[in-house]
This record gives sequence, C-alpha cells and structure tokens, in this order.
Amino acid sequence: MIETRKVVLHFPQMAVDRPIVCDLALHFGLSFNILRASISPHHEGLMVMEIIGESEKNEEGLQYLRERGVEIQPLSQDIKKVEEKCIHCGTCVGVCSTEALFMERPSFKVRYDEGKCIACELCVLACPTHAMEALF
Ligand code: SF4
Ligand code: SF4
Repeated sequence: MIETRKVVLHFPQMAVDRPIVCDLALHFGLSFNILRASISPHHEGLMVMEIIGESEKNEEGLQYLRERGVEIQPLSQDIKKVEEKCIHCGTCVGVCSTEALFMERPSFKVRYDEGKCIACELCVLACPTHAMEALF
C-alpha cells in the first residue's frame, strides 16, 4: 500500500555533506518532497520531508537513514504558542533554527511566526512554562 509519511530528519555534522537522502529514491524507489531544510552554525542539518512509497519500503528507507546516524521524528501536525503561558524568557528563541520564534524589539516580547515553523518540537522541550504545544 502506498503511504505518505511526514518526518523531521536531524543530520549529524558528518552526514550533512553526503547525498544519503537521494539514496531513498535510488535504493528504495521512494519519492520525496523536501518541505524545509536548514543547517545550523555547527553544521548539523535539519530537514522536514514527505516520503511517499510502499509502507514497507518507507520503513526500510528510514532504517537506512537511521543506520547512517540520522535521527528521525514524525512531524507534528501543528505547533501552537499559548500566549497566556508565555513569560517571554527567550529560551525558545535560542533553540529555534528557523527564526519562527524571535524577540521583537523594542518590546522584548517573544513572537511566533507560524509560517516559518518546521515543527521540530525543540521549543516544546525547551519551554519552562509549557507555552509551546505540539498538536497531533
Ligand atoms: S520558552 Fe516558553 S515562556 Fe519562554 S519565551 Fe519561549 S514560549 Fe515564552
Ligand atoms: S517547532 Fe519550535 S523550535 Fe522548531 S521550528 Fe517550530 S517554532 Fe522553531
């Protein structure tokens, strides 16, 4: 059965320069759409993608990536910021690689631009007041 999976891939530094995502098509016959990609200042990579193929081949392809050091998370449907819980401490700004969370000047309020979010959930883990929520 053909299925589509949305996943977040975290590439370690050593894997960023290697075309291992292309191997999904070459070795497993999978199609993919890259929805968002970024490389951190420390050269770790983050990619949000849709993988389309036979469910068995999807799993084999993801296992192939795991064996090469790539961490894989399912993509949350949505990330929400609960304004009433936010104390504008800025912790989430430091972990957000896409600048979806940013400090507004001169108010020093933390704002959320949903359009830039790749649903990596790092802010959900980092927020001390649980103001960032992942909705499935
Ligand atoms: S970490 Fe949480 S409380 Fe702090 S600014 Fe971000 S959303 Fe607000
Ligand atoms: S989930 Fe949070 S840390 Fe990740 S991109 Fe979205 S706002 Fe930024």
